[in-house]
Amino acid sequence: MIQAENVSNLIVNRIYGLKMGIKRRKTRVVKVGNVKIGGKNPIVVQSMTKVATTDVGRCLGQIRRLADAGCGLVRLAVPTGADAIALSKIVAKSPIPLVADIHFSPRLAIASIEAGAAKIRLNPGNIKDRKDILRIIDAAKLHGTAIRAGVNEASIRDLKNEVVPEAKRVSLMLREIKKYVRLFEKRGFTNLVLSAKSADTVRTIEINRAISDTFDYPVHVGLTHAGLPEDAKIPSAIAIGTLLAEGIGDTIRVSLAGGSVEEVRFGLRILGSLGLAESDEPELTVCPTCGRCKVDVVRLAKQVKRSLRGVSKPVKVAVMGCIVNGPGEAQDADLAVCAAMGKGYIYRKGKKIATMGEDELLDALTAEIKKL
Ligand code: SF4
Repeated sequence: MIQAENVSNLIVNRIYGLKMGIKRRKTRVVKVGNVKIGGKNPIVVQSMTKVATTDVGRCLGQIRRLADAGCGLVRLAVPTGADAIALSKIVAKSPIPLVADIHFSPRLAIASIEAGAAKIRLNPGNIKDRKDILRIIDAAKLHGTAIRAGVNEASIRDLKNEVVPEAKRVSLMLREIKKYVRLFEKRGFTNLVLSAKSADTVRTIEINRAISDTFDYPVHVGLTHAGLPEDAKIPSAIAIGTLLAEGIGDTIRVSLAGGSVEEVRFGLRILGSLGLAESDEPELTVCPTCGRCKVDVVRLAKQVKRSLRGVSKPVKVAVMGCIVNGPGEAQDADLAVCAAMGKGYIYRKGKKIATMGEDELLDALTAEIKKL
């Protein structure tokens, strides 16, 4: 009998392999510098710098590492005038478009637009004066800057400025976003990306579904304040992955209280596991092991993983503990090893090419990996 873990592995592999299954919802295209978000454009992975923007050298170092890792846009906090000045220096040398993260200050929003930010992230709810929002919109229009307009669940208050019960927050967030979109559209501005952030997995899914059902603007998806990497990755993958699987999301950010390159790598893995991004990394499938296993599959898999270091091709390698699922899994793999009673089989593209003793398996597979 095929075990549950293997069934899900097979499903993921089939989706990945055939690049089928996910139909993205139609959104309009928004230009962020030379990056296009929405429509049929690839889903853009974003991250943030994690040092003061005034530290131009370190920011540029982080941005370059992020770009090398596959990040499409990097956001920088602009909490002071000095940060806005530094932003213009960073923009001049950045390999990818930059987004200014603005809170409370119309002055800093406009300064960031003038500094060359390709997009600003704005929560219009924390800009008190409507006239100031209009000034920001006009500046963005003039400079061709995109705006990500959004709400954060933590900033949602009712009419009496009191904290809203959880059950009402999704509808209130949607109401806020509708209000902003009306304001932007009335001013003739449609270079918009929408977002609603929550630290709650289920509400993140619900609010993004609601936004996607209501508007055709591209949607920025992510779970906010998700936590340390070891705590944040599962809820982030569930929230972002569920939405992407439903076709929702044109740009994503995995928020981790950790390194930003890790955010990008993890975001790309989410996309890759849904067949939404091309990968140049090998994919290793390993059976979860059970009482049928007669070899140390975990040890073998770790050794195979080491052998795969340096391979920059999207090859699929499977390490299976017995003949129950081994031959089946081998069919979907470029290379597979299937252990049996004291011996093992090597498969290439589903075809058995060698049988050998258990202690020869690793060397034989490594030799095959080299041929890749
Ligand atoms: S040993 Fe065989 S049956 Fe057990 S988990 Fe691995 S492939 Fe599946």
